Amino acid sequence: MRKLLPGHGASRGSALGRARVRQPHALEVAEQRIRASEVEDELTRLHAAVAAARTEMHDLRARLHGALAREVGEFLDLHALLLDDPELLHGLDDLIRKGRYGADYALRLQRDRLAAVFQDMDDAYLKSRMDDLDHVIGRIHAHLHSRSTDAEGLAGEILVSDTVAPSELAQLQAQGVVAVITSTGSTLSHSAILARSLHMPLVVGAAQALTKINDGDALIVDGETGEVVVDPSAADLRAYRQRLKDAAREQRELGRLRSKPTRTRDGIDIALHANAESREDVAQAHALGAAGIGLYRTEFLFLQRKELPDEEEQFRTYRDVVLGMSGRPVTIRTLDLGADKADRTGLALRGEENPALGLRGVRLSLAHGDVFDTQLRAILRASGYGPVRVLVPMVAVREELVQVRKRLKRLTAQLRKQGHEVAAEIPLGAMIEVPSAAICVEHFIDLVDFLSVGTNDLVQYLLAADRNNEALGELYSPLRPALLRLLEMVLSAGRAHGKQVTVCGEIAGDAAMAPILLALGLEHFSLHPSHLLELRRAIRGHDRSALMDQAGKLLKARDRTGIERWLAKAAD
Ligand code: PEP
Ligand code: MG
Repeated sequence: MRKLLPGHGASRGSALGRARVRQPHALEVAEQRIRASEVEDELTRLHAAVAAARTEMHDLRARLHGALAREVGEFLDLHALLLDDPELLHGLDDLIRKGRYGADYALRLQRDRLAAVFQDMDDAYLKSRMDDLDHVIGRIHAHLHSRSTDAEGLAGEILVSDTVAPSELAQLQAQGVVAVITSTGSTLSHSAILARSLHMPLVVGAAQALTKINDGDALIVDGETGEVVVDPSAADLRAYRQRLKDAAREQRELGRLRSKPTRTRDGIDIALHANAESREDVAQAHALGAAGIGLYRTEFLFLQRKELPDEEEQFRTYRDVVLGMSGRPVTIRTLDLGADKADRTGLALRGEENPALGLRGVRLSLAHGDVFDTQLRAILRASGYGPVRVLVPMVAVREELVQVRKRLKRLTAQLRKQGHEVAAEIPLGAMIEVPSAAICVEHFIDLVDFLSVGTNDLVQYLLAADRNNEALGELYSPLRPALLRLLEMVLSAGRAHGKQVTVCGEIAGDAAMAPILLALGLEHFSLHPSHLLELRRAIRGHDRSALMDQAGKLLKARDRTGIERWLAKAAD
């Protein structure tokens, strides 16, 4: 029967596909005992499932190609290793043979046992292996029920789950998943950002998804409105096809703006830089005429793998981004691991009480000086190939920037001595995403060449509202007077000191927010390239001086409704 489920659109695009439901506690199987005479059959069943999981992984690895092959491949290799782990396999055999448990229940017991061991470990890296173990056990469990989880099995499917980790999205796409629906999550999480980058439609916060959708249901997902249709009617299918046609027409229309300037009606040129984390993003940014890369998120090079990328690998990656932009400036942000961007290398701590307030961003880099130096050396070497800027995430205090500057100076001298080419000028910038940095921007502006406001985190820290917690509803929103005031302060400081200010949080890519940012005097936007033409179209329709004349009124708004009212007038 047709059902309509509401959710939040987190990554645009429509998809039609079969549901693949992943229950959060797939292994919550009840105790299952078997008779002595059934032991051998149960062991055979288990071994066949393990073998099938191994073959599946092997086949998937062999089929991988293209840009994601290496990262996804490493992820699969790690799982293949776990599938051969004697601790895991002997334990399972023992539970069936000696404990007389059914294979499903043995899997659950073994998973819980190992989870307890992992939980007690001090070593952060080993602790982080628990996710991998869960994944592997989930694969074996699926095969016990003859459900393949491989590429063919998932091709054309829509994953329905409670959450999706940034680290698994690329793999799901490689397996042919066409869209993802989660019952929790927010549109500003890193998973959402990555889904947009992968052009994978994503709906989050569809609270009823796990109870109302069954495996195999036909679904239509609208990653823009957040609507999910279960068992679509003929009219839904027609509307879906129409949406695809409309989207294609819109793309053609926007395509005409590719070579047009981003100029307001009153003739002010606005620079649109791109947020990027993959080669595809860089290629798109170049093709659409981005002014440069305003935010290259390097942490994505560190996710989905167990070993840290070395200097050479990082250098080649950054150099290729620089070359890919043919002389336009590339802003490389140093590692921003931590909080929801937990890696598998063990660098980011697991189990912090308050990870968003913990060892993340520049704090983590400064705590691992060798890792930081490796990254900075790679970035500095890339500067020999074109204009590079270094951006430091999560700056909270002046001292952090002092330390980064010192490191850059020392490493530049070291590299030159070793015969490497390093650019004469490498502008240094600070992310403004912690309230203390925004409030005291005047106290460290002398140490930087530019500023980049990360509104995603700034909103989170300003309102003490977790960006990933949908239970907070509308509290987490950029339409808050406190955010606008801080933006105004930072932009004024930038103007007063002649330092460029960019906004690189998700609001910069939201055409509906452009009047606010233009009114506050923003001239540099950094956004995912998939939104670039739409933003260009919106900016070309605005008169900046008229908006700036209304900035006073905007800053007087006392609540969200007041800001929305201002916006509605600006859009008239
Ligand atoms: C931000 O916080 O606004 C930002 C751009 O950084 P990230 O989303 O990567 O945390
Ligand atoms: Mg941030």
